[in-house]
Amino acid sequence: MKITFLGTGTSQGIPVIGSKHEVCLSTDSKDKRLRSSILLEWEGATYVIDCGPDFRQQLLRADVDQLDGILFTHYHADHTAGLDDVRPFSQKDGQVEFYCDKSVTENLKERFAYIFATENRYAGAPKVSLHSIDNLPFELNNKLIQPIEVMHGNLKILGFKIENFAYITDAKTISEKEKDKLKNLDVLVVNALRKEPHPTHFNLDEALRLIDEIQPKKAYLTHISNRMGFHKVVAKELPSNVFLAYDGLVV
Ligand SMILES: [Zn+2]
Ligand SMILES: [Zn+2]
Repeated sequence: MKITFLGTGTSQGIPVIGSKHEVCLSTDSKDKRLRSSILLEWEGATYVIDCGPDFRQQLLRADVDQLDGILFTHYHADHTAGLDDVRPFSQKDGQVEFYCDKSVTENLKERFAYIFATENRYAGAPKVSLHSIDNLPFELNNKLIQPIEVMHGNLKILGFKIENFAYITDAKTISEKEKDKLKNLDVLVVNALRKEPHPTHFNLDEALRLIDEIQPKKAYLTHISNRMGFHKVVAKELPSNVFLAYDGLVV
């Protein structure tokens, strides 16, 4: 399976509009982070996890011309706001498959009512097919997808495990029961917002503690704020099996 980081930034991305923060002014391409999303490709299938406001730019940048579906971790705008830009794929293939839990489904139907309208539909609106998922495994193109329930503050959201790879973003706490699903991973992607604590996201220490506990062979940090610091500097401070992800990184 090929994994491409389409975006590794927190909700406002880096640079933040109008910010004079030193990381926002950095000229290092690894300090420029679009909103968090990854592209998964295996055996001719192409899926993305999340569809934030940078979706169009991300798919153009990664030269994606086929999309079999989108898996959603949760409904926050930085993970869903790009939804209208699935149109090229729904026009080509008739519809795009969405994999959503109940809270994402309810939220998207409210925020993107025109997409889900059954009467007086605008002909140009994207056509989507909703698949309800919860915390139970499901199959996509011959691979078993195991959801992992994590807490994003008070909000229950999903991470996903596919064979020995797991993607967790926007987590603040994970129950022991869900952590059991994260044993024997080759690659864990996990969110780490910044060094200071945050009420709804792991900070760097919390992410490193989780990594130390579950011992994946390699871990990549994502959903990063400018307040984490310069990529080049922070990368040197991490344990040898932990890496700061950056936009465009392929694993
Ligand atoms: Zn987020
Ligand atoms: Zn969120």
